Amino acid sequence: MSRLDIFIDRMVSQRACIDHAAALTQTLTGPVFELGLGNGRTFHHIRETMPNRDIFVFERAVASNPDSTPEDHQLILGDVHETLPAALNRFGPNAALIHADLGGHNLAKNDAFARVLSPLIEPLLAVGGVMVSSDRMYFDNLIEIALPPEAVAGRCFMYRRE
Ligand code: SAM
Repeated sequence: MSRLDIFIDRMVSQRACIDHAAALTQTLTGPVFELGLGNGRTFHHIRETMPNRDIFVFERAVASNPDSTPEDHQLILGDVHETLPAALNRFGPNAALIHADLGGHNLAKNDAFARVLSPLIEPLLAVGGVMVSSDRMYFDNLIEIALPPEAVAGRCFMYRRE
């Protein structure tokens, strides 16, 4: 499998899982959190497909396409090691949907990062809320759920608080 194949699988899976999570959480009123803005593609997709949701984006340095740059009030700037605990004070356990795409090319580093971030993300999710991640997460109380049929196993992971 080429790097192009892997990239395409990742993009297709991100879109399918975000859309599935949006459908599963459509009756929830809490905010959507986008962890890692990057170029802003997934933020743009979330904004296009969930226009009535409150969306907040966690990023340490904004470098997105101008069409995909959040409004100032949507941005939570800083390192997620600090901004996620602060978000629990601000929002409480009310996030309806959390999408995380914070990793880079080093899979071992991504895995270590996911282990550290899991306990910071877990308390933010509302009952019935869904978390979508490009990396396997390590939650105590969130249940891993089935991917939608269009997603490729291993390229995306989904979790839900029952
Ligand atoms: N999903 C995005 C898109 O569709 O364009 C791509 C996200 S990119 C792979 C990962 C982003 O996470 C980068 O912009 C990086 O700056 C951010 N990031 C990584 N580690 C972070 C940290 N500790 N705190 C805040 N942002 C971080």
